[in-house]
Formats: sequence, structure tokens, C-alpha cells
Amino acid sequence: MSTPDSTLPTEAQVTFADLDLPAQLQKAVDDLGFTTPSPIQAEAIPALLAGRDITGVAQTGTGKTAAFGIPLLAAVDPAADVSRGHVQALVLAPTRELAMQVADAVESFAAHMPGVRVLPVYGGAPYVPQQRALRDGVQVVVGTPGRIMDHLERGSLHLDTVKFLVLDEADEMLRMGFAEDVEKIFGQAATERQVALFSATMPPAIRAVADTHLNNPVQVAVSRQSSTVTAVEQTYAVVPFRHKVGSLVRVLATSEADATIVFTRTRAAAEEVGVALVERGVSAATISGDVAQKEREKIVERLRNGSLDVLVATDVAARGLDVDRIGLVVNFDIPREPEAYVHRVGRTGRAGRTGRALSFVTPHERGKLKHIERTIRAKLTEVEIPSPRDVSAHRARTILGTVPARLEAGRLDLYTELLSEHLAPREDGTAPDAAQVAAALLALAVGDDGPAHRAAQEEHERERAEVKGGRTRETHRAERGDRDGDRTRRHPRADRDGRGESGRGIRRPAEGTRYRIAVGHTHGAQPRGIVGALTNEGGLRGGDIGKIDIFGNFSLVDITKPLDDATMNRIGRANVAGRQLRISVDKGAPERRAPRTERRPAHAAH
Ligand code: ADP
Ligand code: MG
Repeated sequence: MSTPDSTLPTEAQVTFADLDLPAQLQKAVDDLGFTTPSPIQAEAIPALLAGRDITGVAQTGTGKTAAFGIPLLAAVDPAADVSRGHVQALVLAPTRELAMQVADAVESFAAHMPGVRVLPVYGGAPYVPQQRALRDGVQVVVGTPGRIMDHLERGSLHLDTVKFLVLDEADEMLRMGFAEDVEKIFGQAATERQVALFSATMPPAIRAVADTHLNNPVQVAVSRQSSTVTAVEQTYAVVPFRHKVGSLVRVLATSEADATIVFTRTRAAAEEVGVALVERGVSAATISGDVAQKEREKIVERLRNGSLDVLVATDVAARGLDVDRIGLVVNFDIPREPEAYVHRVGRTGRAGRTGRALSFVTPHERGKLKHIERTIRAKLTEVEIPSPRDVSAHRARTILGTVPARLEAGRLDLYTELLSEHLAPREDGTAPDAAQVAAALLALAVGDDGPAHRAAQEEHERERAEVKGGRTRETHRAERGDRDGDRTRRHPRADRDGRGESGRGIRRPAEGTRYRIAVGHTHGAQPRGIVGALTNEGGLRGGDIGKIDIFGNFSLVDITKPLDDATMNRIGRANVAGRQLRISVDKGAPERRAPRTERRPAHAAH
């Protein structure tokens, strides 16, 4: 990459070829497609090859396995007798899963070292096969401390010939109560051995282990930032442009993340997506480059304290944003530059938490995806966008999950009584089926028509088929006015990168400006309430307010007086029908369902 960024490895220019690996290891690295060592690898591999001990502080996904696995294999002597459990290298890992993973990885590094065997050893598996393998001879053992101790006690494993000892995820190992076993293992290991200790954190207990058992170690630490990208589960979904908003809503509706950042390429798109989300009842706010610093801080604080769950932002606006609650980053538009991708994804997976990133890729953007994958040296996993059915199921499961606690709370007498009345046999001998009644109540609680919502489900299937077929053509959708349709048809304007408003056929007010506010019929908004809020919070006079059109989820208001930022903010926070107005300049939409046009009352109510 041409412009190294603070979050990308600065050692990017170093290649594995520069590390002078033994030929058979270099070959394995080539096979694996590793070209550039990660920062921890670039530091640890030369130090370990030179025979030094090291401590490495690095988080998950920084490439620690190769950092110790490659030098460990370089230290192995395939000609030496390793039978009867006299191993040459031992890696300690905290769990069975990690032991298996590390053993697999080390084995792949040893692909061109015939005769070198790697044995994973962990509890819960029968002893005999492990003992047999040790007796026949393996050079490398990767195991959990408990099972390693068992083998040492049984005499099936000997550490007097060990040349290389690794503690992987040392903090986790101590947390799991393996401190004593680790001490014993060090006590039995040959004194002429090299030690590498890796840990995500370096608390005093680990420091003490290092001080006691390591010999003047080289200390390597990689910053949190350089690990973020690989610490995040990175996924993508192929989404045709016009389905992006609908897809986003479904992703958010089924997400388990505490908070989410949605990135768009342009400010206009950020505004548009933010408004679309709010209209659909998502607690979302938008920050783009031109949001005042103070306003930005307020929004970030709301995101941090949990009063806001979704932030829509542009790259510039989100720079430096550091909020631990963010569990999901959605790239609504895939960024042009891989560096921007790294920045965006780095907003999640912070403070040792796990994070997920989901990039929307339109069918013709697959090339951009490949470019990003090459730069970050990782593959993104393709996932499917949740269907409307998935959303219903998610809501239903969430509700069902609260049932036991509600049962526990009691005070259900009234409802039990009403239900048994409802379920009682009728005159004609028929009775409603209790399970069907429960299903109907669940559907009511979920608040949708249920997936006999077939139209939406079919639409979704069609989308999928279209994506699979690789068609990029913007086919017109069935104009049924289903909930997704309304929004997704509107959106494409936003990405034309225009802040320009030309050619949209917007009805302009006779004079003044048309504003959009986030309350509509569905919320029970009345012209009187809107006028009241505008006059009270906004300091407007009745004469400043023109026509008011109330739609389902929002309303449009013509205001003749120019509104300054402070006034916009005050009005934006004002409540009508229990919802914030979130006023913004209306950018017009090509089609809207027929509004109920209200003549505003001659006099403001208050
Ligand atoms: P850690 O142990 O630090 O969590 P791993 O060693 O498991 O990280 O590596 C994480 C992922 O990165 C693995 O899938 C690994 O194959 C890959 N990887 C490691 N080093 C490189 C590299 N230099 N180039 C490309 N991919 C790498
Ligand atoms: Mg690891």
C-alpha cells in the first residue's frame, strides 16, 4: 500500500523474504499466501531465530501463531531421536480449541518438513492414542497445561530435551487457574531452552512468570490499533443498490450488537439513511463532516451512554471515534480506499470486545472487495441479509425469551381467567385451539402480519436470486408500496453524491423552505401539536408557518422564516406525540403516498 496509515502495519515494506527463513519454512509461508509479516511477526521472528527469549503483548488476530510457530520449527531437529515422549518443542494453550487451532497452524507451517510431527494434547480426549503418538515420537506438542501435567506424571512425556517453550494466551491461562501447572512445567523443562510468552495483557502475575523463567527477553508489544482489523469478524453481503436501506433495517432489527455505526460514502447519503432509519423507528442519529463539534460530542456521548444505538456517519465525521459499545460496523457503501475500510472497521472490536463488520457490496463492486481483501490480507466471509421472516422470528424469540420472567412475576389471574373463557367450547361444540391462540398473541406482540407477509418474503427471495444470478440491472420493483419499497426506491438519489437537488421534481413551497419532521399519522401527530412545538420551542410565529402535510411516519412543513442552527436544534429536540421532531430540510422524494393535507389552524393553539 502506498500510504501507510497509522492503523496499518508500518512494517508493510518488510516481506517474509527479508526474514531469512529456512527454505522449507519460506515455502510453507508462500503456500499459505502470507507475503507481509504482521507487526508482531516482523519483530518476534528475527529475535527468536537469533535465539532470544521474548514476551509479546498482542491481541487476538495479530498473527501470534506464526510469530512463534515459524521459529519454533526452525529450532526443531528432524534427525534427533524423539521417541518415548522426548519432545523438542512445547506450546501451552489455555483451551482445547486453541490447542487444536495452534497445532493445525504449526502443522501447516511444517508442510515441507517431512518427518516433523505435531501433536495436540488436551483433556477430555482418551489418553491412549496420545500416549501412543508420544511413544512413537513427535517433535512438537501443543497442549493444555492440565493434560500436559498428566502426561508428565505418567511418564509419557519428557521435557529434558525441550529446546523451545511457548506460552500462548498466558493471561487466559492464568485466569483459568493453570498458574501452578505452568510453574511445574517450567520446573521440568531443560534449562537450555528458549521461551516465548504471548499475552493480550501483561498483568503483574504474568510479568512475574516472565521475570522468573525468561532470560533477558526481547519485549514486543503491538498497539491495539494494529490488531483491530483482524480482531473483528469481517463479513460482506451482496446487496443491489436499491435494496440497501431495507437490508440495513433488517440487519439492525436482528443484530445483537449494543451499538452500530453505519458508514456511507457521502454526506447526503448519511443524512438520507439517518432519516430513513428514524422513520422506521430506529434510534439513529447522523454525523457528517459539517456537524458542529459540540453537536458531535453530544451525539457521541449519547452513543456511549446507551441512549442512542445507531450512528450514521461519513469517514471524516467518524475519525477518531472511540466508543466501546460499538459491536457492529456496517459499510452501507463500501469505501473507495482500503485505508478507509481499516479505519471504519477499527471502530468496533475495541477494549478487548469482539466486533463484527458487515459491508454491503453491490454486484458490480466485487472488484473493490477483492482490493480490500488483498490490502488487509484477510478474506471477508459472505453472509446473507436477514429476510423479513428472520426479523419476525428474531422479534418473536426475543419476546418468548421474556416469558419465563413474566410467568415468575405472576399477577396473571385476570388474563388466565379471560383466556379460559376464550378457550371454552362454544355452543356448537367447537373450541379455539390454545396453541393457535398463543401464536396469534405472539404475532400481535411482534407487531407484524407474520410471514404470511408473503409478499415481502417473496421479494426477498427474488432479491437473493437476482444477486446469485449476478444481474446488476436496476429492475423496477413491484410497486406494491410495501414497507421496504417505499424507502429503497427513494434512496438512490442520495448516492449520486450530489448535495445538488436538481432534477428531482420536488414540490417547492411557494416561498420559504420545506422541512421534514419525524412525526406522522402513525404517531398520532396533529397539525395543532406541530404548530405548538414550532412556536413554543422554535420561537416561530404563526405567520412563519405555511402548509403542513402529515404522512405516515413523517410530516412536511413549509416555513417562511430562515431557521438558524440553534433554532433547528431546539425544534429538533422538541416532542410531538411523544417523539422528537428531528427537523431537517426536506430533500424531497420522488413518490410519496397521498398525504392528508391539513390546512393549519388559523391560530396556533398555544
Ligand atoms: P492470533 O493468534 O494473534 O490471534 P493467528 O495467529 O491465529 O492470530 O492469526 C490470525 C489469522 O491471520 C490467521 O487466519 C492467520 O492465518 C492469518 N495470518 C497470520 N499472519 C499472517 C500474515 N503474515 N499474512 C496473512 N495472513 C496472516
Ligand atoms: Mg492465537
